[in-house]
Amino acid sequence: MTPNTLKLVDSEEFLKSTNDTDRHYRFIQLTNGLKVLLVSDLATKTAAASLSVATGGSRDPATVPGLAHFLEHMLFLGTERYPNERDYSNYITCHGGSYNASTYYNDTNYYFSISSEHLKGALDRFSAFFTCPLFTESCTEREMNAVHEEFQKNLLNDLFRENRLFYSLVSADHPLNKFISGNKHTLTDVPKSHGVNVREELFNFYSTHYSSHLMTLTIVGKESLDDLQSMTQEYFSDVKRNETAEVLKLSSPFEGPSQVMKEIHVVPMRDKRILELSFNVPYTLSHYRSSPDYYVSHLIGHEGCGSLLRYLQQSNWVLSLMSYNDNNDYAFETFFVSMELTDEGLEHMYDIVTAFFQYVKMMREEGPQIRIYEELKKMAEWSFRYKEKASEAALASRCSKLLHYDFIPVEHVLKFGLFYDQFDKELIEEYVKCLTPQNMRMIVKAKKFEKTEVDLQTEHYFGTKYSVKDVPQEWVEKWEQCELVSELYLPEPNPFIPDNSPPDQLDDKLPAEEPSVPELAYNSELCRLWYKQDDRFFVPKAVFELVFRIPMMLWHPRYNILANLFIRLLQNDLQQLIYEAELAGISSGAAHWQNGFELTFKGLSEKMVLLVKTVVDQMCSFNPADEEKFNSYKDLYERSLQNALLAEPFKLASSLANLALLSNFYSVEDMLCTISRCNFEALQLFVPQMLSCVHVEILAHGNVKKEEAIELCQYLEDTLKTKRNSKQLLMSEKLFRLRCIQIPDKSEIIYGERSIAQPTHALCTYLQVGPQTDRSSALVDLYCQICSDPFTAQVRTQKQLGYVIFFNSKRVAGIQGLFLLLQSSSPVHVCDAAFEQFLECVPSIIEKLSEEELADFKKGLEKMYLERPKKLSQEAYRYWSEILSGSYHFKRYSSFAEELRTLSKQELIEFHNRHVAKGAPHRRKLSLAYLPALKESESLPEEDEKKDVGAVFAELAKCGSPDWLPNGAQIGVQMELCSESNVDSGETEIGPAGDLPSKVNGLSLEHESSGDKKNEIFEVVTCLDRLKSKLSFYPVTQPRLDFEVK
Ligand SMILES: [Zn+2]
Repeated sequence: MTPNTLKLVDSEEFLKSTNDTDRHYRFIQLTNGLKVLLVSDLATKTAAASLSVATGGSRDPATVPGLAHFLEHMLFLGTERYPNERDYSNYITCHGGSYNASTYYNDTNYYFSISSEHLKGALDRFSAFFTCPLFTESCTEREMNAVHEEFQKNLLNDLFRENRLFYSLVSADHPLNKFISGNKHTLTDVPKSHGVNVREELFNFYSTHYSSHLMTLTIVGKESLDDLQSMTQEYFSDVKRNETAEVLKLSSPFEGPSQVMKEIHVVPMRDKRILELSFNVPYTLSHYRSSPDYYVSHLIGHEGCGSLLRYLQQSNWVLSLMSYNDNNDYAFETFFVSMELTDEGLEHMYDIVTAFFQYVKMMREEGPQIRIYEELKKMAEWSFRYKEKASEAALASRCSKLLHYDFIPVEHVLKFGLFYDQFDKELIEEYVKCLTPQNMRMIVKAKKFEKTEVDLQTEHYFGTKYSVKDVPQEWVEKWEQCELVSELYLPEPNPFIPDNSPPDQLDDKLPAEEPSVPELAYNSELCRLWYKQDDRFFVPKAVFELVFRIPMMLWHPRYNILANLFIRLLQNDLQQLIYEAELAGISSGAAHWQNGFELTFKGLSEKMVLLVKTVVDQMCSFNPADEEKFNSYKDLYERSLQNALLAEPFKLASSLANLALLSNFYSVEDMLCTISRCNFEALQLFVPQMLSCVHVEILAHGNVKKEEAIELCQYLEDTLKTKRNSKQLLMSEKLFRLRCIQIPDKSEIIYGERSIAQPTHALCTYLQVGPQTDRSSALVDLYCQICSDPFTAQVRTQKQLGYVIFFNSKRVAGIQGLFLLLQSSSPVHVCDAAFEQFLECVPSIIEKLSEEELADFKKGLEKMYLERPKKLSQEAYRYWSEILSGSYHFKRYSSFAEELRTLSKQELIEFHNRHVAKGAPHRRKLSLAYLPALKESESLPEEDEKKDVGAVFAELAKCGSPDWLPNGAQIGVQMELCSESNVDSGETEIGPAGDLPSKVNGLSLEHESSGDKKNEIFEVVTCLDRLKSKLSFYPVTQPRLDFEVK
């Protein structure tokens, strides 16, 4: 034992998965009380650390709401040892890492990951947060804007809104009533009105609550445990201990007559109908070895025969149901049941609650069952035994949090959540006893309350509308006296759970140094099978991916919608099977694309082929027959489309990019226009045709025999032929692949939309580069890697323009480009000017790099390229995305890494001058703007409201944007896109923006602002479909191989 260390628990004492052979663990506690878990993994290319402080927003002083969160932001911006505000972020990103932090009520967590050679340098900078922060005056004011932008970003997010609402309803003096996110008002006006200096408060908070004995730390690195330990002692022994600091013990805020037997109605942002029942339950976290809460939520959330969900689905009241136990570091627990209702279900809320209490009554009468507990135990044991590696950052964050719980011996942290070694009947009974009407809160979320409720109140910060009333007494009595019904009973034994446990070690082989790539194992006119036997993980697991390419889906959004509804109804039909398989360790899912749909199966391999066969079989014979169900799912889908329009502006702007760039891509609006016209009859007509012309591609990967996979593929082919009369595609499958538009050289295309609800702007700028080669891909990635951090520093930290910001490469349909994105409260022309200003600085940023720094960037990027997948499913996903995209470039990243090594500064500069610089010969800029929703007082002519760039420009003109529009240019709206040599030709069409203040001149505009920028074409488009119909498309990606079966 060394002088600064108190305690020591070493590797052999930890309960580890038998699959966990690379990582070694040691727990130490420094003399200042800091608890540390060290994880040594000699082979890891990534190191990570996470430090968690058991304090947070619950300690905010009333004079500065949001102080703890603000402090978390400020720690990143300079310390005595590294006073430069960008030092930490620079160091991490330049060495292939990432960092973040989060603040909750009683927990503030900081973490980073980095290339493993640079752990020491990162810890040096990171530990200074906790020993010598500066809280630099100049940063203090600026960073308040960042906190405010973060608040704005979450303003319309239902999760944040509801969370805040429920805590705002608890007693005013309860710490959970605090507004912990903070915004500009609470960080400036509120303290000012109290005569408080925020910077002084930062120091106060820090010295009072940031004490070493309230901190826990996890470090993962490639060093030996001894070396990790001495690094920890070197950097963290100086963290101060304040004896008076303690964890704030919180009681449940939801107890007592003012909280229970209440019915809270909430008007959500999104169109959803949710009924949520919540109950105060005993604190079971300390009973983690018997997991009584999991037993209860397993039964109430069950989806098989006899379950509550099944029963409620029969009346078509409920679409889905989940139940969970929320146990957090607040020292109290809440049990939740959350149900997604149909329209009819909303009219039967109280009947639904009756069914819930009938189920609970049945559970009470049957009593806790050891056979059910044993099933849970068996699956938890296997899941632990074959547990695959978690990422270093995830492992570090999870463990640092668990180290706070004194009742969990450190030896148990790796298995935490998977313990079922004590069947405790009494604990379960005690838990179920709490599920009573007297202990319940009923929360109902539905858009319609906005119109139906008369006594709505408004939450202060987010403006959420809600009402609270007592649950009707006559119903409480009904629920208390409810009778058993025969449809509700405990689940039967699960047939998917294998009787015997799979073998411990599948193979004695060592993982292959260079993993093999999938081979083509079967290729017919209907099906193509890619197969790879696992050569790295040796777990009894497999992954099956199937994509069905259906040309009909590309013809019209209608077919796309019908295919989607077919899959949803099929999943509903197979609910019991899918659910039982999931409990037994095989998860499955479906996704749908523009040109087809995809089925995914992953998990324990033993019964997987059987499951895939059953699903395929059912898919080929399923003919939906229940019209009521169809209508419920259609309604659900329609609402999800409507809700998609409420997403945050930066998400909407980036999905606009796909819409603008890709051929045959339907917008949400297209889908919404069409869905109302899709009826049940249409589906019945569509289903037999859907699979009549199809091509299927399959990846079978993992612990599965080649013959078995081939047999499955042939079975699928036969079934398709006999049951759906499937024929091969008439044309090459390549014709059904998506393609990317070709933006003309020296042009700038602008398109904008207006948000229907969001208050902020978003701008994304895409600079198209062209078809990918390995070398150009590595070049683009390196360019982005170098720009990303200075871009954030300039635009977010210095100019304070927004919180969400990206500088990335974007690759679609084999074509790549640079992708800059910002969500901001400032108008889009200000954002655009900031982007351009930054891009002008890039050559000097590159010039200034020393050879050493450039080498660091390359090494950081190489590390990301060569990072090995930690799980079988991750490896499968890499191969699968190559198959889906049609490039089949299975060795993509090692080829990129190869090219990366020889890239030079000169090449980066040349790239910049060719594609990025203003006036560059191949500059192809596409700007997509998302504008804030209009306030009620502002209104535009109706035709300008949506999808109309006229509105964009009205907005821009209002703000005045001399920098943004080329000098002397009039605002123009034009649909014809002209190439450089053809500026004046073509018909022009004046869009609905004819009423705009500045009149339309109907022509393309030339930049005339300065000499070297001449001849750039500046285009504003009002309709993406029209734009796409005028431009040419790049050819389809060529596969890297010919399809020869070995
Ligand atoms: Zn934050």
